[in-house]
Formats: sequence, structure tokens, C-alpha cells
Amino acid sequence: MLTCTECGLSQGRTRVVPGEGPDNAEVMFIGEAPGFNEDKQGRPFVGAAGQFLEELLAEAGLRRDQVYIGNVVKCRPPNNRDPLPTEIAACKSWLDGQIELIHPKIIVTLGRFSMARWFPGQSISRIHGQPAERDGITIVPMFHPAAALHQQALKATIIDDFRRLPRLLQQLRQVETPPKPAPSGAGPATPAEPKPEQLSLF
Ligand code: URA
Repeated sequence: MLTCTECGLSQGRTRVVPGEGPDNAEVMFIGEAPGFNEDKQGRPFVGAAGQFLEELLAEAGLRRDQVYIGNVVKCRPPNNRDPLPTEIAACKSWLDGQIELIHPKIIVTLGRFSMARWFPGQSISRIHGQPAERDGITIVPMFHPAAALHQQALKATIIDDFRRLPRLLQQLRQVETPPKPAPSGAGPATPAEPKPEQLSLF
């Protein structure tokens, strides 16, 4: 990936920003694209939005080094413009590979570009914070921290959405390791755990 020239963004970048975090992370966050600071350092979310993301992670009882953080496109668009559909398409196989490798329990999409991959045509204002299962992974669309940072109403909303993550994660862990059936003769069997698509947190 570090030498990728699949799209024009490769010409203006300082560094590729692949993403970072443990390859067994339970939660993966996918933003939009590297900005100025990320392009210089080769790391995702290291500017103001990154600082706010770390505060949000703390609201969810998570540390940055426990989660995987990446982006839809791995190179900075000039002047932080929106990534083009052709650039998102050119970068898709990198993101596909990361998702396959990490296979997180939860993917949190940050902003509309990562949301669009799983919820095309949807509006973030309508579906933020609502988990949905796609290909065996629970996807939670959320506002982008950079947008929420400067708008008080969105800030309260994104904090609220992050605070719901621990319970969702707990539920998904239970789904993957259902309790052992009670020994025969010990009374009625434990009711089945809900499937992810049946989880209702809101
Ligand atoms: N915004 C993003 O979407 N990604 C980053 O890495 C930094 C800011």
C-alpha cells in the first residue's frame, strides 16, 4: 500500500496513511481521508478531529490502542476536498483487505463517505447510532468527529452514540460465546441469545 499509485491522490501525498491498531481489534473506526497532519505523520486522526475521537473513545471506555482506526481513502485529497468516487473505488481493495483481516465485531463509520459503503443513499442524520448487521459485522454509522466538534448539537449526539457502544459490544460478545446449556434435569434450558440483527439498544 505504501507505494500505491492506483489513483491521482498518490501524486500529492507526503505519506500514505494505512490505518493503525491491533489486527484483532473488536472495534474498527473508518473515517474519510487523511488531512494535513495525517499526511505529514502517516497516521490516522492525529489532528483536532483525532483528539476529539480519543475523547469519544474514552466516553465508550475504549483506548486508542485497543481499536483499529482507518479511512476510506489512504492518501490526502488536495486541500482536504471530498474524496472522489473514483478514488474511493481505487482504494476499496485496501479497505476490504483490512476488514477481512481484522474482522471486527463492530465497525463504526465516521461521516458519510464510510457510511455510504453499507448504507448507500441514506442520511446520517436519520440513521446515526443505529446498528445494522452487514456480512456478519455490526455496522454503526456515526457523525464525523470533525463535523461534530464545531456544532454543539452534533457534539452531544455523537457523545451519546459513543456511550452506547460498550453495551452493544457486550451483547455481541455474548452472542459469540453463548452460555453452556444447563445440565439435563437442571430445569428449563437457557433462552437463546439474540442475534445481532435483533439487538435493540435504542
Ligand atoms: N479525518 C478523517 O476522516 N480521517 C483522518 O485520518 C483524519 C481526519
